[in-house]
Amino acid sequence: MKHTLLFTMLVFVLTGCQQVKEVEDVKIKPLAEHVVMIGFDAMGSYSYDKAEMPVLKDFASKSAWTLDSRSVLPSSSAVNWASMLMSSSPSMHGYTEWGSKVPEIPSIAISQFGKFPSIYTQIEEQLPGAKTAVVYSWDGIIHFLEDQIIDINICTKEDEDLTAQKAAETILNEKPTFTFVHFDEPDGVGHGAGHDTPEFYEELKKVDLRLNTILQAVKDAGIEDKTIVIVVADHGGIDKGHGGKTMEEVRIPIFIKGPGIKVNYNIKSPVIDYDYGATIARMLGIEAHPAWRGKIIEEAFVE
Ligand SMILES: [Zn+2]
Repeated sequence: MKHTLLFTMLVFVLTGCQQVKEVEDVKIKPLAEHVVMIGFDAMGSYSYDKAEMPVLKDFASKSAWTLDSRSVLPSSSAVNWASMLMSSSPSMHGYTEWGSKVPEIPSIAISQFGKFPSIYTQIEEQLPGAKTAVVYSWDGIIHFLEDQIIDINICTKEDEDLTAQKAAETILNEKPTFTFVHFDEPDGVGHGAGHDTPEFYEELKKVDLRLNTILQAVKDAGIEDKTIVIVVADHGGIDKGHGGKTMEEVRIPIFIKGPGIKVNYNIKSPVIDYDYGATIARMLGIEAHPAWRGKIIEEAFVE
């Protein structure tokens, strides 16, 4: 009797261990091998209906999208790009202004690479050997990123067409696991001629052509069926600026297209831009950082 009980306990313990091991072995299944996030600075949702952007609108018709995502406050650049890539709110990552180069509030978590963990950090730690890239018009992008772990780092110094060209070349030749492309327009025209002006909509026609250059590169690289492309903006604008609390400034679009993503689907659940980092991590099958607060935009996924 005693032996039987011991045997039963032994079997129970061994079976229990086996179950734990199986749980540990379960990995998040990636949706895609590549994610490309393309950001157009200050392309507020208010402009979408009036904009002559056939490439973006065709892309939108094949994507899961919402025009009702929100910027964090202030509705300014660095604070919002940081929030997206760090999947957290400004008072946690600490970058709180339009041109933050160092955190104005100490970051609540620091990675082994020295800054608040971003999607680049999570890729570096969980996908060893994966190639990452950042191509950007405005050098404000690089200050909050751990540039030493980013394989391809190209600043075009506000030459927008060069940004499109360099991003296309990078995707074609390097096929990175994650690429973030930042364009400074239409923000420049928004500050110069003003938001919601004829000049602003003229610039959006050029923005559309730049988007086309990158989408074409994804096709030419032969990776379209295993690449999720995300088109975003950091904030909108009103009159000749942004940073405030109007809906013209804080209402932003996100379009997501690729494997495992719903087609021609209007996302209805609430979205804020710091959801994007966690969503990209999920797409690539990696874990979010414990300090992140973004939620995965599950509604965009087929299952
Ligand atoms: Zn901006």
